[in-house]
Parts: sequence; structure tokens; C-alpha cells
Amino acid sequence: MKFDILTIFPKAFESYFNESILKRAAEKKLIRIKLWDLRSFSGDKHGKVDDRPYGGGPGMVLMVGPICRGVKKILALAKPREKTRVILFSPSAKKLDEAGIRRLAKYDRLVLICGRYEGVDERVVKHIADEEISIGDYVLSGGELPAMVLVEAVSRFVPGVLGKYESLEAVKGSYPVYTRPEVFVPDRKKKAWKVPKVLIQGDHQAIADWRLKEGKKKLGKVD
Ligand code: SAM
Repeated sequence: MKFDILTIFPKAFESYFNESILKRAAEKKLIRIKLWDLRSFSGDKHGKVDDRPYGGGPGMVLMVGPICRGVKKILALAKPREKTRVILFSPSAKKLDEAGIRRLAKYDRLVLICGRYEGVDERVVKHIADEEISIGDYVLSGGELPAMVLVEAVSRFVPGVLGKYESLEAVKGSYPVYTRPEVFVPDRKKKAWKVPKVLIQGDHQAIADWRLKEGKKKLGKVD
């Protein structure tokens, strides 16, 4: 699975991507993440990638030219049979959910365009991006955090990225988990907080059933 991220802040990704499961997945060559500096496609000696909006109004808009050149260069690197998808992050788009993540995990290469400022020239939406994605009903300052969210969420569905138990969670949904101590007393005046008995009795089938049931409850699928 290849991720190509077009951004004006490539360094913002480094520390996160160089940690934990994403680092391991990249080392095992299960995923490949490449950061592309949008300014390198500006065609301008000052690296200009934004300009004022036509019609007036506040803020700056990312220009179509640098994004078009960047995406063209990235797609030219794709092998003929690679399944690619170009995604633009937009707060007003369809919200990313698990079904969306599973669908995106079927592509070989995702090209992620991170917007900034007042947004992106609409011609990117019309002519370059295959789809727009939002990560939630709130406005962030840029598409960098949405890109990190998408890369991590999609990577979890790439075979081999997760361990056995984490994979189970990905399939069945999040169930409640506990660790030591078995009994925790937050304050002498309060009742102890105990780990559910089923988890400490060693009956693996009962544990699996309990996790499935509680996982569904958390997802709101069961009362
Ligand atoms: N009014 C602009 C709009 O609706 O696109 C707001 C632009 S926002 C300040 C700058 C960029 O951040 C957007 O172009 C988008 O790439 C990204 N962004 C902000 N919030 C987002 C969200 N909830 N989901 C996905 N991308 C988001």
C-alpha cells in the first residue's frame, strides 16, 4: 500500500510516522509513505502555492497549478495496473467511517492532498481529486492531521500491519479492556473498581463471547 501526501508541511508528519505501528509497517515494506512538498511544484522561485480568492474575501487559496503538477508527477510513478485514488481533504465532504476506510484499503496507492488556508481552488475538486473526504464536523487549519488519521486507519487494514489480537479488534469492534490491578480502590471512601469476573476465570470461549457482546454494546448495536 502506497501513500503519497502532498502538503506544504511535510516535516509535520515525520515524528508521528516514525513511531509505532506505522514505522514497523514501513520497515516491513507493508506500507510506503512518501511526503511531497507542494512548494517544490510551485514553478515560482519563491515557492508560491497560494493566492487571493477571486471575488474577494478573507484569506488565501491553494492554487490549482502546483497541485496539478504534483499529482501528475506522483501518478506518473504508478505502475499501469496499480489501483490509485486521489483524495482531497475538505471539512464539508462526506465523513470518513469504517466502511470508507475498508474501501480505501483496497487501493494500491492513495494520493492525499492536504488543503490549507481558506481552502483549495475548486478546480482541484472538479478535475483532479477522485473524491473529497472529511474526518469530522469541525474545521482544522489544514489537511495534515486528516492525512495522518487516514494513513493510520487504512494501514490497520493492510494484512500484516496489526498483530493477531489487534486484528481481532479491527474485525469485531472495540471491546472494553482491563489490566492490573484486578481491584482498584480510587479512594478509601469509594467502592472498589473491579475487573469483570469473566476475564479472570480463564474460560476463553466465555471471554470471546463477552468481548463480542460488550464490543457491540459500545458500538451501539445492542442495548
Ligand atoms: N472554509 C474552508 C473549507 O471549507 O474548505 C476551510 C478550510 S480549512 C481552514 C483548511 C484545510 O484544512 C481544508 O482545505 C482541508 O484540507 C483541511 N481540513 C480542515 N478541516 C477538515 C476536516 N474536518 N476534514 C478534512 N479536512 C479538513
